[in-house]
Amino acid sequence: MSNMEQTLSIIKPDAVERNLENEIKEMFKINGFTILKEKKIQIEKSEAEKFYKVHETKPFYNDLCDYLSSGPIVVMVLEKENAVFGNRELMGATNPKDADDGTIRKKYGISIDKNSVHGSDSFENAKIEIDFFFKD
Ligand code: UDP
Ligand code: MG
Repeated sequence: MSNMEQTLSIIKPDAVERNLENEIKEMFKINGFTILKEKKIQIEKSEAEKFYKVHETKPFYNDLCDYLSSGPIVVMVLEKENAVFGNRELMGATNPKDADDGTIRKKYGISIDKNSVHGSDSFENAKIEIDFFFKD
């Protein structure tokens, strides 16, 4: 049975800064994702704080929000069968050191904080995150 899903992906400042936008998009396309929507933006720290609210009690929250708002990012809606899980697999582990070969974070990630991409972690959060960036 078909389970076409959409998920939110972000190419983070460290990757945009290194001009990896096209290479990372190519990895999504080669792996069967369709980029339905995309925009390159820079967000305010207050918006990063809203986006990452789930992490507000974590010790890395402040640095994370400074970082996500530190430069241009590319936000995308990706579509594929089981896109949420598929994107998490393609991204690899949060810490690039632990990421499997062939994943985006293994290939491009610099460190646990500069790990090049974000991806929604559940179907419910994907809906919330897509609305966050693309609700008109
Ligand atoms: N992060 C960090 N230090 C940590 C854990 C996470 O800087 O010890 C950052 C990292 O950029 C990560 C983001 O916070 O991508 C969100 O953390 P999460 O656990 O949700 O990881 P993800 O879902 O991005 O794999
Ligand atoms: Mg997460």
